[in-house]
Amino acid sequence: MAVPKKRTSSSRRNMRRSHHALKPVSVADCPNCGELKRPHHVCTACGHYDGREVVAQSPAA
Ligand SMILES: [Zn+2]
Repeated sequence: MAVPKKRTSSSRRNMRRSHHALKPVSVADCPNCGELKRPHHVCTACGHYDGREVVAQSPAA
């Protein structure tokens, strides 16, 4: 089994982890209903994408 020869310094470890931060989720307004939706995703409120309804909305919900 491969074993590290040297202990990773706290500086090296922190440099490696410098890319691990989470970014805030980007949202955009739905052109159909105005709700916030994720870009390039079907709107969860009205089921529209690219100007047409792609997910049928049940009347009860
Ligand atoms: Zn919508």
